Amino acid sequence: MKATTSTSAPPVHNAPLPSTSAAGRRIAPHSHIKGLGLNSDGFASTDSAGFVGQTNAREACGVVVDLIKSRKFSGRALLLVGAPGTGKTALALAVSHELGVKVPFCPMVGSEVYSTEVKKTEVLAEAFRRAIGLRIKETKEVYEGEVTELTPSEAENPLSGYGKTVSHVIVGLKSVKGTKQLRLDPSIYEAILKEKIVVGDVIYVEANTGAVKRVGRSDAYASSYDLESETYVSLPKGDVHKRKELVQDLTLGDLDSANARPQGGQDIMSVMGSLVRSGRTEVTDKLRREVNKVVKGYVDQGVAEVVPGVVFIDEVHMLDIECFTYLNALLESPMAPTVILATNRGQALVRGTTDIVSPHGIPVDLLDRCLIVKTDGYTREQVGRVVQVRANVEGLKLGEGVLDRMAAEGERGSLRYALQLLTPASILATLAGRSEIEVDDIAEMNELFLDAKTSAGLIAAGGGFDGG
Ligand code: ATP
Repeated sequence: MKATTSTSAPPVHNAPLPSTSAAGRRIAPHSHIKGLGLNSDGFASTDSAGFVGQTNAREACGVVVDLIKSRKFSGRALLLVGAPGTGKTALALAVSHELGVKVPFCPMVGSEVYSTEVKKTEVLAEAFRRAIGLRIKETKEVYEGEVTELTPSEAENPLSGYGKTVSHVIVGLKSVKGTKQLRLDPSIYEAILKEKIVVGDVIYVEANTGAVKRVGRSDAYASSYDLESETYVSLPKGDVHKRKELVQDLTLGDLDSANARPQGGQDIMSVMGSLVRSGRTEVTDKLRREVNKVVKGYVDQGVAEVVPGVVFIDEVHMLDIECFTYLNALLESPMAPTVILATNRGQALVRGTTDIVSPHGIPVDLLDRCLIVKTDGYTREQVGRVVQVRANVEGLKLGEGVLDRMAAEGERGSLRYALQLLTPASILATLAGRSEIEVDDIAEMNELFLDAKTSAGLIAAGGGFDGG
């Protein structure tokens, strides 16, 4: 397929397709986790939904999910306790998956609150706002289809009398049921250039506003594979022109910042960014209250739905007494998201105090609100199974003996160390012209990198940086 352009108009070039090779895309470390992997009775099968082992913790989290769904968890928090790399973040993410599709998941680390620019409590408040989703539903007239033609037509510039300007754009669209040629406003041309839309892309154009959105590509089947939703885009099924329910997912955090820096425009963020009449450049408590009021109005009208998500605070022992007090207050708020905390500390001093020692460095009043779940360490065999799951997700082939070797490294170092070896080892294999990782690649990586235990051991033994 080729873009059809008028002779004098700038052509709309075919944008390069995103790479689909394993080496060309970044795969999030938890992308293999699809949920808690529990059966209908709430029991965890050993390996399910990307999770290996950790059955007690998964079942306990399943109970928490039930409590949240039946609205019996408000004012409380889940505390995950376990060694680094034992899947605490993975469990928190799995809980958010179990709560529903597109539930916001907002992870942070306790030490993030210590910034010179923003107040500690502000950082927490913002994380909570980003964990509350808002699903906005609108029924609109749209044209949806695969672009078969993009022709900007030019006219003399009426103001200056010379020079050319785009007068309208002809867009050809094709769906399974037919094709249509649309004559659209020149403003769409800017949107088309901005979104880098080319022939072969599947787009939709809102009939009223002319807003245009790229949905994917139909001809390059593999390149339009969406890792997140695991769907392929193919030719739209119905007519080119139809009424479509458009769903936009935002968070209260998005609305706060959009309203603090309002901007004009037609897209949803610009519209949502002028909910509140404000010339502010900062998100204040007052602005948040105003945003809440407007959101409540939308909810009452049935236009929007609030989707409470999950705030995950890793290394929660890094928070200080002021933050813990604020956290207690945030938990009480009627719009609070689910709060999951994680720590690997035992008995510890509560930061910001000189004499309060408490389990996990968390004040007892907050601890009292927590359901505590422990994560266990992994056996060599379990490490091997997680490595295999990750290799599958990353599209990496493991040669003979590699899995055993990785499992042994994981048992000696940590699961995370074993997982971290995967990508560099695959680069070595590619450089050597092989499609499979071999045991030698792992050995070479081991010579180059240290796992945390070995590194700490070297320093403790007086070896270390000077090589002595
Ligand atoms: P830390 O305390 O250092 O933050 P953590 O306990 O949060 O560590 P994760 O980050 O969840 O550990 O786990 C490290 C990696 O191992 C991630 O890629 C995670 O998805 C994976 N992982 C951990 N446990 C499991 C498991 N039981 N099954 C599958 N993958 C796992």
